[in-house]
Amino acid sequence: MMHPDLGGNKWFKLKRNLKEATKQQKETILSFGGAYSNHLRSLAAAGNIFGINTIGLVRGEIPNPLNPVLKFAHDNGMGLVPIDRKTYRLKTTQEFLAHIKDRYKDPYIIPEGGNNWLGVAGAAEIVDLLPPVTQIKRIITIACGTGATVSGLISGLVAREIKKTEILGISVLNAPGLIAKQVKQYLHPKKQTTTNVNWKIEDRFHCGGYAKINSELEFFLSSWKIDSEIPIEAVYTGKLFWGLRSLIEQGTIEKGSEVIAIHSGGIF
Ligand SMILES: *Cc1c(COP(=O)(O)O)cnc(C)c1O
Repeated sequence: MMHPDLGGNKWFKLKRNLKEATKQQKETILSFGGAYSNHLRSLAAAGNIFGINTIGLVRGEIPNPLNPVLKFAHDNGMGLVPIDRKTYRLKTTQEFLAHIKDRYKDPYIIPEGGNNWLGVAGAAEIVDLLPPVTQIKRIITIACGTGATVSGLISGLVAREIKKTEILGISVLNAPGLIAKQVKQYLHPKKQTTTNVNWKIEDRFHCGGYAKINSELEFFLSSWKIDSEIPIEAVYTGKLFWGLRSLIEQGTIEKGSEVIAIHSGGIF
């Protein structure tokens, strides 16, 4: 709700990348995503607002007519290029990136999902929006796709020496351990000290994998619609709130704790 087009966690991951691209005097920012990528959508909007060219390399085929996400990106001036799935998997390799640099005249490249160091540093700023800590133990929860946002939250707490606060990430992927590994890489790049912030990634609420849905989640989403005016969607925030409810029911989240669920966006 911070902004109609930039709102959500993607803006936090983008902001410092945009600054860096400007500093490097890049004319174009290029990034990657699936056909329903919230990241490409936000990047396109930001490019339009700040007057920077954007290119989105889209995994697989580009549907014709465009789906609402790609239509929005296109209308905001993003150049959309389909990349076959096999090639797309090479997107982080040196060889592929060198080819992209050459082909698109040395653009500023942001990884899929805004998952890089500047993205994490931007996401750390979310901590500044939280209300002051009280005496009660606080648990901050958020949906995780790459783990960049949750890494930012943890490092934001560490940097600000905020105590009595735990972080709980709910993974939306069927890839046990993957997000925790990513978080560790951001927190301890040289495998040095541990942080004093307790954090955990829950891998039990993916419903079969990214953008997958099962009957339990479906039921939760329809009952949520009746009980709450807060809009949620099936890919990220639906799994967050569903997971959160299960953990409260199971007693994993203790009675009396203060729970802050971060609504990361994804509603258009
Ligand atoms: C991208 C996205 C996420 C996941 O963020 P990561 O930093 O990749 O973990 C969560 N919620 C919404 C709504 C998103 O669009």
